Amino acid sequence: MRLSHSLIPTLKETPAEAQIASHRLMLRAGLVRQTSAGIYAWLPLGYRVLRKIERIVREEQDAAGAQECLMPTIQPAELWRESGRYDDYGKEMLRITDRHSRELLYGPTNEEMITDLMRQSVKSYRELPQILYHIQWKFRDEVRPRFGVMRGREFLMKDAYSFDLDYAGAVVSYRKMMLAYMRTFQRMGLKAIPMEAESGPIGGDLSHEFIILAPTGESQVYFDAAFEEIDYLSSGAGGFSHESADDLERFFTTMTTHYAATDDKHDPAAWEKVAPTRRREGRGIEVGHIFYFGTKYSKSMGFAVATADGRAVHPEMGSYGIGVSRLVGAVIEASHDEAGIIWPDSIAPFRAAILNLKRGDAACDRISEQLYGALGREALYDDREERAGVKFADADLMGHPWQVVVGPRGAANGTVELKRRAGGERQEVSVESALARLA
Ligand code: ATP
Ligand code: MG
Repeated sequence: MRLSHSLIPTLKETPAEAQIASHRLMLRAGLVRQTSAGIYAWLPLGYRVLRKIERIVREEQDAAGAQECLMPTIQPAELWRESGRYDDYGKEMLRITDRHSRELLYGPTNEEMITDLMRQSVKSYRELPQILYHIQWKFRDEVRPRFGVMRGREFLMKDAYSFDLDYAGAVVSYRKMMLAYMRTFQRMGLKAIPMEAESGPIGGDLSHEFIILAPTGESQVYFDAAFEEIDYLSSGAGGFSHESADDLERFFTTMTTHYAATDDKHDPAAWEKVAPTRRREGRGIEVGHIFYFGTKYSKSMGFAVATADGRAVHPEMGSYGIGVSRLVGAVIEASHDEAGIIWPDSIAPFRAAILNLKRGDAACDRISEQLYGALGREALYDDREERAGVKFADADLMGHPWQVVVGPRGAANGTVELKRRAGGERQEVSVESALARLA
């Protein structure tokens, strides 16, 4: 993309309404703009990040055997009356009436709708287990939308739903999703820790929130460093496979043995037993939540399947959410400095920025175009008529993992400066080796 003809409105000033780093940086780097309270438009740079996060989430859901579908944002009120949640949900639900006076709502979540879709078609035990998911916009009329996309009113969520014949099956689905989550977050460069959460009406220990550390997090958290040392993506010895029940068991035991707790569940006596050098604590941001809730919806909505011996059973269900749009803010909270964002390679909007320091200089223009031609869609070419200082500042602010600086002196000798955003190292290299490095 050529920056001169892009809608990437960077700001020098810090917007007054933004209280936390990620919100400030998302506005300053031109990722998003607020269009109503808690509702954001994703501008090209921000949307590229959102899509890359979405892609990682999708790949890991698919790898865990979940099926992608897409349910609508608008739902009929009747479905929610069946489960009893139409009244329970309260003011967070945006209720709408159409021209025929039918009651609709903008979905805050999809348990009712997916249960309805399943009950229309799935009749036999032979068709279970199944896990379905979609990545779709949600609306929750939060009392206090704040921190930009971290607590918005309209936000993008991945929500998955599992259907099993019995509790043992539901446990396997739960563990598969938990493993998928650890892999998903690791691929984004995040150290997410699963923490036991309030399990609601069903009880049991199958409810976990996934929390990442950041100074502006909403809750205080405590955990054992062990979580940070595990490679969830490894397929070798010690790795975990979704396919193996033994692996899933060993994985779940690991996740639930090491100490991890949010404020409300913190147990100082157990904490004392963790070696002092292994204690990690700080503020945490919730980026995902998984829970098992048994037959709450299948029973209230009359979804049953026939068993082998002719009985009818209500499938056991679980829900699994990831805050896709919240993750954009959460990653920035975890990875930024004074100058701006520092994107992990896997979700950076562009892999590299090409900074042409002297437009009109034949060598600078030629080398910049050559680099841009070779790097293609993964490069942002700063071809603006701007001072070098402005280009450096904007590139640091936008946080591309690499910057290729094309200045007149180097260009005359066929060299460019390659800068790594994360560590700040700079290297004078030939155009060819810059390309080899970034290819
Ligand atoms: P919270 O306690 O933060 O309100 P929740 O328990 O309501 O979260 P879930 O219903 O479990 O959230 O939704 C799944 C995920 O969706 C959350 O883990 C979070 O990452 C994300 N999420 C929830 N509410 C919002 C919001 N208002 N804005 C952005 N993301 C959200
Ligand atoms: Mg909430």
